[in-house]
Amino acid sequence: MTADCLFCKMVTGAIKPDTVYEDSDVLAFKDINPQAPVHVLVVPKKHISTLNEFDTGNIDLIGKMFLAAGKIARDTGVAEAGYRTVINCNAGAGQSVFHVHLHVLGGRTMNWPPG
Ligand code: AMP
Ligand code: ZN
Repeated sequence: MTADCLFCKMVTGAIKPDTVYEDSDVLAFKDINPQAPVHVLVVPKKHISTLNEFDTGNIDLIGKMFLAAGKIARDTGVAEAGYRTVINCNAGAGQSVFHVHLHVLGGRTMNWPPG
């Protein structure tokens, strides 16, 4: 928990997100500025700033984030048509909230390469 972190405040409930999934280790909620019909953010409950801070001690947590993403894709009906998972790492990749999060995007055709 980091006092001035937006996503830590969602984990503690100080700010109430539009939660779509939660377990003991991860919280998933709708993105406030969706870039696709389905746009959910999966965050670890533990504060980790960026993907660069993951290490071997976080392997289970990383797995749980992706298991949550797959469940969300199935539950929102986009799993078969296709969806995208994205982690933006640091400012050059567009990271704007420095509590690591996995974007789950679906419900429309995704272009490649990404912008
Ligand atoms: P990134 O740019 O990869 O760091 O992604 C941060 C995401 O957080 C963006 O897609 C924002 O729209 C989203 N976001 C920012 N504030 C909120 C909020 N209060 N509730 C839900 N999503 C948010
Ligand atoms: Zn945080």
